[in-house]
Amino acid sequence: MNTVFGPIHSRRFGTSLGIDLSSSSKQCNFDCLYCELSPMKAISHQYAVTPIEEILDDLKEALLKHSTLDVITLTANGEPTMYPHLNELITLINAIKGDLHTLILSNSASLSDKRVFNTLLRLDQVKLSLDAATPEIFRKIDRPAEGIEIETIIDSIQRFSHAFCGKLFIEILFVRGINDTPQEVLALNAALQSVHCERIDIGTIDRPPAYPVQGLEFKELYALSHLFDPSLPIHIVSRTHATATPSRYTCDEILTTLDKRPLTDDDIHALFDDESRQEFQNLLNEGKITQIERSNIIFYLPFANSIKKRSKTIKKS
Ligand code: SF4
Repeated sequence: MNTVFGPIHSRRFGTSLGIDLSSSSKQCNFDCLYCELSPMKAISHQYAVTPIEEILDDLKEALLKHSTLDVITLTANGEPTMYPHLNELITLINAIKGDLHTLILSNSASLSDKRVFNTLLRLDQVKLSLDAATPEIFRKIDRPAEGIEIETIIDSIQRFSHAFCGKLFIEILFVRGINDTPQEVLALNAALQSVHCERIDIGTIDRPPAYPVQGLEFKELYALSHLFDPSLPIHIVSRTHATATPSRYTCDEILTTLDKRPLTDDDIHALFDDESRQEFQNLLNEGKITQIERSNIIFYLPFANSIKKRSKTIKKS
């Protein structure tokens, strides 16, 4: 099973089964400085498309196995809205999901495409990223594929927020020295005035980034939050308070989960039951899992994945 991973507990979205719509490699129309995947040139179309049947088979198998889920999350090694069969896949998921909610985590870049816009309207929850509101900072932090403009993205988010009947979340990720100036926050604030959403999550880097950039301290995020209009539903994201019921993971599931998302000791303690923690320890002892340290936090990831990761000098977009 390559396309489905988890369950992963998120304080913001509940217990989620993830679907990776680009399981073979990173395919994204952005190349964000803070991406937790390896750096890669932004592209406009998927060149490796996972068959829809494969995704559905993996999902059916996982749904039989995990009974205490809240949400099915469409995500990707890259941007999930680039998956060309997204609309059809949502129809098939809706037919088998029962009471579970559907959620997509998108970078917002494809929302100006009418087909993507209408497809996302069919989901229960949508999370759209908006890291910048001015062209210069947008190009610097998100490093988009050619032809993607921030003005178009903001207009699409505003229109979508008025048309969508489900829960819309906006996420802003702050990177030190890039989009954390008062001027950029005020530009974001102005753009968000016309957005109807459930919540605006502001956060910072909490996983090893693709490029050598740094996150902010909690107190800095707190200070930035005060620059937004008090009427906006700003929420500072802090991973440290997440709680979860530990579950049983096989060796393969542990490696797949770590491949999608490096985990900390806290995450492992919250997610894995005793037996799974022992399996995790065995994989660590065997060298199949390795660890890297960032800002005093240890992250675990598959050894094979760590080879792909590399530091790179920031190039100007
Ligand atoms: S953070 Fe998301 S949007 Fe940005 S490059 Fe990585 S996968 Fe793409």
